[in-house]
Amino acid sequence: MRREAAGGGGRRRARLAAAWQAQGVTTERTWAGTYTFTSPRIVEASSIDQVQHLVADAAAAGERVRALGTRHSFNGIADTTGTLVSVLPIDPDPVIDEVQRTVTVGSGIRYGALGAWLEERGWALHNMGSLPHISVGGATATGTHGSGNALGTLSTAVRAIDYVAADGSLVTARHGDPDFDGMVVALGAYGIVTRTTLAIEPSFLVRQDAFYGLPWNTVLDDLEGATGAAYSVSFFTDWLGDTIRLALLKTRLADGQSPSGVEQWLGAPRHDGVRIFDEPDDNTTSASNDPGPWNQRLPHFRFDTTPSAGDEIQSEYFVDRADAPAALRAVRALGARIAPLLLITELRTTAPDELWLSGSYRRPTMAIHFTWKPQLDAVRALLPEIEAALAPFAARPHWGKVNTMDAATLARVHPRLADSRALFERLDPAGMFSNGYLERRGVREAR
Ligand SMILES: Cc1cc2nc3c(=O)[nH]c(=O)nc-3n(C[C@H](O)[C@H](O)[C@H](O)COP(=O)(O)OP(=O)(O)OC[C@H]3O[C@@H](n4cnc5c(N)ncnc54)[C@H](O)[C@@H]3O)c2cc1C
Repeated sequence: MRREAAGGGGRRRARLAAAWQAQGVTTERTWAGTYTFTSPRIVEASSIDQVQHLVADAAAAGERVRALGTRHSFNGIADTTGTLVSVLPIDPDPVIDEVQRTVTVGSGIRYGALGAWLEERGWALHNMGSLPHISVGGATATGTHGSGNALGTLSTAVRAIDYVAADGSLVTARHGDPDFDGMVVALGAYGIVTRTTLAIEPSFLVRQDAFYGLPWNTVLDDLEGATGAAYSVSFFTDWLGDTIRLALLKTRLADGQSPSGVEQWLGAPRHDGVRIFDEPDDNTTSASNDPGPWNQRLPHFRFDTTPSAGDEIQSEYFVDRADAPAALRAVRALGARIAPLLLITELRTTAPDELWLSGSYRRPTMAIHFTWKPQLDAVRALLPEIEAALAPFAARPHWGKVNTMDAATLARVHPRLADSRALFERLDPAGMFSNGYLERRGVREAR
């Protein structure tokens, strides 16, 4: 694979990549190494103008082109037979509009960097994913989410996008425009997003509390109450036994809904400082119960460290919260099959939204996540059993994680899949932003 770098940082990265390649280490894979890109060329763009030229040149040559984020997806969703374009090196140049309560920023910025910049100025995002190292463009394109019964996915904060369209022109699409709801969680299927406008709010503090060993039956008896007990609630389980290993409650201070400081919750004792994912304490935000700024408490991982070596695979399925107790019971019945391959499961919730390809489209959602040991063949062999158990609940897969669902299944669970495909075909009739992943799943027409 040929790399074209731009600017000083790009040249340094290219030299590093060349050095790694000389040692036989390929760098052109997803962060977790679960997928090797087939694209012959990655360009690290240093300006929007350069992205426009790259796309126009590809269009003239009849070649394909796609955006690449921070590579934290686990499958070939970003891949292309043509050029992969990273917008990460472009100056993010964040601009706050205090009246509209938005920030407009380069889409290659990582959430951790944007969070620190906003917090310094007294502003906040409504939520974060578990990892702050992912890019705004890549995360919002796949419907990345945190947790909270009342909190939409990160994509729901998007108010406008600037994107390089199939003819190389720079186009702005705004919340309220026709088709905008089809253009946010769009998997890079119609263009390269260069700047994103996100809703912001005044900064706030969050306190984390951990409770160990919650009886499954108590949690399932009032699941909506349990997941709604704080601003953001996560449960961690290995699916074995009668108890859930850990509940992590992130309480937004001054919300008045805080169980903070209580010694027991749902029959489980509170624990000071908690270690999740068996990560060293230094890597997680939960090692202390002290209240902290939103950007240092809502993600599970700290931005100033490098969490995990990427020795993992992830899968995730979204069901309607009304179905969640039955869906969780169905997965628990597979606990003995799941546990040998599992590192940890996390259960989170999101609010319903209107974004066509969102996992939470028009459904209050329970997200059932699996972090697997790095045994891809064994995981892929097991996933159909989990998907069959969740089929009665019309489970939708996370677009960026490993699943085995085909186009027919996705058409059944995603009511706007055909509308999305029609929109992408209209915006990009030649299919230059298409790829095999999207075509096999019915997101783009097969070519
Ligand atoms: C350790 C870890 C923790 C994670 N935690 C969470 C979590 O808490 N919640 C959750 O929901 N997911 C989580 N994920 C999944 C992750 O958030 C998604 O896969 C996300 O899409 C990754 O963003 P990225 O920047 O790496 O994009 P990539 O993986 O590089 O690309 C993803 C898609 O976005 C498109 N894209 C990227 N940039 C642009 C752009 N500028 N314009 C147009 N399209 C673009 C690509 O073409 C591709 O289709 C996690 C992943 C890892 C590895």
